[in-house]
Amino acid sequence: MTYAYRRIYRGPIQAALLDWAGTTMDFGCMAPAVVFVKVFERAGVPISMEEARAPMGAHKRVHIQKITELDGVRARWAAKHGRPPAGKDVDRMFADFVPLQLDCLSEYSELIPGTLDVVQALRGRGVKIGSTTGYLREMMEINLRDAKKQGYEPDSTVCASDVPAGRPYPFMCLQNVINLQVSPVEACVKIDDTVPGIEEGLSAGMWTIGLAISGNEVGLPLVEWRALGSAEQASRRSRAYERMRMAGAHYVVDTIADVLPCFDDVAARLARGEKP
Ligand SMILES: [Mg+2]
Repeated sequence: MTYAYRRIYRGPIQAALLDWAGTTMDFGCMAPAVVFVKVFERAGVPISMEEARAPMGAHKRVHIQKITELDGVRARWAAKHGRPPAGKDVDRMFADFVPLQLDCLSEYSELIPGTLDVVQALRGRGVKIGSTTGYLREMMEINLRDAKKQGYEPDSTVCASDVPAGRPYPFMCLQNVINLQVSPVEACVKIDDTVPGIEEGLSAGMWTIGLAISGNEVGLPLVEWRALGSAEQASRRSRAYERMRMAGAHYVVDTIADVLPCFDDVAARLARGEKP
């Protein structure tokens, strides 16, 4: 045949897939970070907040393992314990992590400003609301309950522990596609505050919006972010935007409160026959 024909989706956006910590609740993505610090302190190898945050977005056991793979942490571990960290150490720290995280989740479960308005606006446009998270199912039971009390109840929530592998693999996004019964994947927009979360959406063939300020990249609670001087804010903002763009995010904005114009743009691009 001389010509081939390519099928192009030109329909509407059907679903928004929202991350949890740092995206819809827990401004600064504080809850996991403080617990990772505590767990390594208990293991005799204290880590910095920056080291604790480096693999954020991953399944929490994978996250602990990735911290032990950081050069500085490996060196300090070997100096303290006389050998490099091993799988059994990761298992023990993960066992330590789970109850500590369950204990303090509710202290960090306040919704991020803008979440309710955006969810309502998207539903008004016929967009279904799915969600993905690196938290385990038992942790999400707490977050789901706290979110519901504040008026946020997504149509689908998929945890890293529900699928064969968490981020950056696309499985949580694809499970949402099944749960929400939407198709094709390019009718979905994934929103996240971490690099692995953007990669997850891209792996799934979806549009992606990176959140630079409310999550892991700046890593500060809202009051502390607001208290920063404007020069400091500008420098942290530009670093976060750069990292999100380098991860391949189609759009980068400050927080979830700023995403609606991105949906307008995606809708226009779909109508023109563009793919993510
Ligand atoms: Mg997050």
